[in-house]
Amino acid sequence: SMTETDKMIQQTEIFGARNYEPLPIVISEAQGVWVEDPEGNRYMDMLSAYSAVSQGHRHPKIIQALKQQADRVTLTSRAFYNDQLGPWCEKMCTLTNKETVLPMNTGAEAVETAVKAARRWAYEVKGVPRDQAEIIACSGNFHGRTMTAVSLSSEAEYKRGFGPMLQGIKLIPFGDIQALKETITPNTAAFITEPIQGEAGIVLPPDGFLKEAAALCKENNVLFIADEIQTGLGRTGKMFACEWEEVDPDMFILGKALGGGVIPISCVAANRTILGVFNAGSHGSTFGGSPLACAVSMASVNVIEKEGLAARSFELGQYFKEELMKITHPSIKEVRGRGLFIGVELTETARPYCEKLKQGGLLCKETHGTMIRFTPPLIISKEELDWGIEKINRVFTP
Ligand code: PLP
Repeated sequence: SMTETDKMIQQTEIFGARNYEPLPIVISEAQGVWVEDPEGNRYMDMLSAYSAVSQGHRHPKIIQALKQQADRVTLTSRAFYNDQLGPWCEKMCTLTNKETVLPMNTGAEAVETAVKAARRWAYEVKGVPRDQAEIIACSGNFHGRTMTAVSLSSEAEYKRGFGPMLQGIKLIPFGDIQALKETITPNTAAFITEPIQGEAGIVLPPDGFLKEAAALCKENNVLFIADEIQTGLGRTGKMFACEWEEVDPDMFILGKALGGGVIPISCVAANRTILGVFNAGSHGSTFGGSPLACAVSMASVNVIEKEGLAARSFELGQYFKEELMKITHPSIKEVRGRGLFIGVELTETARPYCEKLKQGGLLCKETHGTMIRFTPPLIISKEELDWGIEKINRVFTP
């Protein structure tokens, strides 16, 4: 007879569109770094929903905020003010050291918001001729799945069959400062980049790239947009990955862990000269800035700060990376990353390793065929991490 897991997978495959290729596990419960399937098998979550569950599953403080707010008011739309949005906006401005913030829901929507702001800023502030604004992005980037985001992408499969793409986009190789210099024109509105490329397989730019790129942008009156949706909020061992090179981007794009793995909330933070280009009627979102999302987000950011999760990611990440580097296996090509944002590149396809890790009780996901990403919740304890490292060692023992 079919297990509950088999039934759930079959139902999802029959009635759901197949835009993902999940590992064959159904998660029905979770707490902290642990998840459970309907049959009661326990697994350590080393993906953390692509870094959205940095605070761990169902963090008590975040669930408490969710429940309390659910009993008061959940959605007002921006037709009215609500009593959670103001405090959250001020908190986000303090955190990012920016003057203003604009709330959205998903990461891709915040990317849309940043690109729209940059374009309007180019016309209204910089003086670029109408419809001539250019955005520079990096090959290998991942900014989401909306038309703007896939237009920014260099991946053929992200774009295939979805044309025509957005105009006014130029790509440079990630980390190539000379290419950036040569690609900037008087019509360049912005340069958008992930400080460390996540979906590409935890790819770090050469040292100094972010700092030089930010300086180059400043010299040329080009906005430097940091997509910190995945790298931000402590993931790389600093609150923001830009801090690794003391870069203060013109715009921060945040999401994922901003909602503590509980509710979708994203935002763009920038100074008033930039986000001030929006006026009533030019941009918005029904759910963006909802009291429920703001209350949950406030608690989610507080957990990161009060529990020192950036510092924890820094220390445990260093340790985890060293332990991974000790593994001698003919298929391991490289171990790289910052904080608990670690990629292992193999010389062969990674999927069978992810399946073996799953059998051993550890969940992670391959990316781009040959890479495994290890991004556990940042609340992971040293003991839990050691448990995970042992499982990884077992799979990579020839
Ligand atoms: N930007 C980056 C750097 C991301 O990692 C992601 C998600 O993986 C996105 C944007 C898109 O976010 P969302 O899936 O919430 O639209």
